[in-house]
Amino acid sequence: MVSDHWRISVDGDTCIGAGICAGTAPAAFRLVNGVSTPIHETVDADDAVRAAAESCPVEAITVRDRKGAVIAPEP
Ligand code: SF4
Repeated sequence: MVSDHWRISVDGDTCIGAGICAGTAPAAFRLVNGVSTPIHETVDADDAVRAAAESCPVEAITVRDRKGAVIAPEP
């Protein structure tokens, strides 16, 4: 099975810098000047990345599959 790749985006205007994402998925997110920034725009499918997007209190993170469908957060 070919591993899936996800694309991460963070809305820097919405992010309040709570840091939950960087704590949940430190390999995928870091805070830069108080704003979450994806370390890599594309990542291997990772439950920690999905959890980070679900945990963001302001839903600033969007995770999409390679076709652009939203994986997290769930509507
Ligand atoms: S959890 Fe959401 S609000 Fe907090 S730093 Fe990450 S993207 Fe920003």
